[in-house]
Amino acid sequence: MKKFYEATEKFHKKFEMKGTNNEEMGFRLNLLMEELGELAQAHTKGKSRENMIEENIDLLNLILGNFVSMGVSVEEVEEAFWKKHEKIMSRKKKKTKNGHYRVSEFRE
Ligand SMILES: [Mg+2]
Repeated sequence: MKKFYEATEKFHKKFEMKGTNNEEMGFRLNLLMEELGELAQAHTKGKSRENMIEENIDLLNLILGNFVSMGVSVEEVEEAFWKKHEKIMSRKKKKTKNGHYRVSEFRE
């Protein structure tokens, strides 16, 4: 995680994103939706595994960029990740009506 975070930080520094629209969450959400659309398109068009990996990496880069833009340190990211991981690991898995499986906090 640290290497990825630091690489993203370098990218933000190189392209002087601090204080620009590149660090505004509204703009970043548009970028995320654009990249999510590219991933969805790669999936629906049956693109290669390499292409699917690249589109997921685009999303990962943007997510890491969100943390850099928000001033969230790599330590905070790691702490939040493991806190959430512990929470989702305690959840239950259920089969939905359409046959898919979901891991969530189900209300009885
Ligand atoms: Mg892309």
